[in-house]
Amino acid sequence: MASIQDNLKNVTAQLPQGVRLVAVSKFHPVEELAAAYEAGQRLFGENRAQELVAKAPQMPSDVRWHFIGHLQKNKVRAIMPHVSVIESVDSVELLQLIEKEAARIDRTVDVLLQLHVAQEETKSGFSVEELVQAGEQNLLTCYPHVRVCGLMAMASLTDDMEQVAHEFDIVRRTYLTLKDGPFDESEHFNELSMGMSDDWQVAVKYGATLVRIGTAIFGPRRY
Ligand SMILES: *Cc1c(COP(=O)(O)O)cnc(C)c1O
Repeated sequence: MASIQDNLKNVTAQLPQGVRLVAVSKFHPVEELAAAYEAGQRLFGENRAQELVAKAPQMPSDVRWHFIGHLQKNKVRAIMPHVSVIESVDSVELLQLIEKEAARIDRTVDVLLQLHVAQEETKSGFSVEELVQAGEQNLLTCYPHVRVCGLMAMASLTDDMEQVAHEFDIVRRTYLTLKDGPFDESEHFNELSMGMSDDWQVAVKYGATLVRIGTAIFGPRRY
């Protein structure tokens, strides 16, 4: 089996300039994160609040943590001191709560808005219509402690790469609509987080600036 270091090298060597890697370390022990850190990786993604809160103090302080899972409202306060980007904002209510909790500890936090484009109903996120409407109602841009930096999405779990491409294209077009609309004065709205181990090459073709890769770096997860 290839080492974490080899896997990291292999993936990052293929990433075009301007595309950053979020190493998705969920369910992997800190020893494996430390191996990735040793190899130069600084950006890590976790999808469960308790796990992020437990791992963060065990890693060097220059690690940047992206939260990428469904965020329960009662967990926002716990992750706020640790997280650099909350990628998975899936409702206006959550955005409002993030504003409140960021203000409470006097920080500014970067977030991405999660768009639901996959066929599976279980995945979370705004629909395209909801997001465009929220933008028109000025519900996305009125937060002094939150910088909305772009969109995040997951494609359907399928081998059909045309379907995946179609979904990433919807994300890209929605991003451009918002960038021309409610975010036209924002310097921060520049990120498209899409692509995982099996579909990141497709995501990059559709303009991903962040890819979130777990299995192809750390191997299979032991749940
Ligand atoms: C687990 C996860 C990933 C990484 O998935 P892999 O297939 O292991 O690369 C990416 N994004 C999100 C939101 C995840 O939950």
